Amino acid sequence: MKIIVPVKRVIDYNVKPRVKADQTGVETQGVKMSINPFDEIAVEEAVRLKEKGQASEVVVVSIGPAESQPILRNAMAMGADRAVLVQTQDAVEPLGVAKLLKAIILKEAANLVIMGKQAIDDDMNATGQILAAQLDWPQATFASQVALADGKIEVSREIDSGTERLRLSLPAVVTADLRLNEPRYATMPNIMKAKRKPLETIEAASLGVDFAPRLDIVKVVEPTERQAGIIVSSVEELVEKLRTEAKVV
Ligand code: AMP
Repeated sequence: MKIIVPVKRVIDYNVKPRVKADQTGVETQGVKMSINPFDEIAVEEAVRLKEKGQASEVVVVSIGPAESQPILRNAMAMGADRAVLVQTQDAVEPLGVAKLLKAIILKEAANLVIMGKQAIDDDMNATGQILAAQLDWPQATFASQVALADGKIEVSREIDSGTERLRLSLPAVVTADLRLNEPRYATMPNIMKAKRKPLETIEAASLGVDFAPRLDIVKVVEPTERQAGIIVSSVEELVEKLRTEAKVV
């Protein structure tokens, strides 16, 4: 059982993004970049399956610039066996990412893809679903628990009315939710070991896939400042303000 884990390099979740002066996007120059947190959860889950003896190999794949190498090394320090960087100059949209991932997944003859439910930069929450459609594989999104048994994968998903359990035949695509696990920290010996693990670089253009952008970003703006709240002294005053100022009752 070979597991592919797609990982994206995004602005670190502790950094407050700044909109570029020309409003074409957010500033990434000189900004701390990290592995997308949901992808770290996906790596952890794949490594746990390998540690249980249920997977033979975990391969992490990133589509992006050469600067994505550190996040691939980080994933290998967590336990992934090897990495593939599909190198692109510009950011690629979910449709293009899914098509490039499909090419790698078929080339690798993988049986399972575990990936983040969304990347925290664009919050698209689309790539896993598009990838499953492109591959024509079953998908289970927002997984909070995963178990392999009898050549199938069982996935629990938290939904409004409780927990839904799905059983999928393999190969399949699973996207990870926050509660799936708590990713481990890479230890120093494993960080050193990861430096010697294989990292293959493939030029995206060599895969014969059309990943040209379809979307135009019209404008990126800062969210409007939230107004300061006020403290009311009684329920009567609250109702009065809701009626006369907020005009919501
Ligand atoms: P998104 O649909 O952009 O919110 O991303 C969902 C998931 O798709 C992420 O958590 C990653 O696992 C994967 N993904 C998105 N973009 C990339 C990329 N450039 N390289 C590798 N994986 C990606």
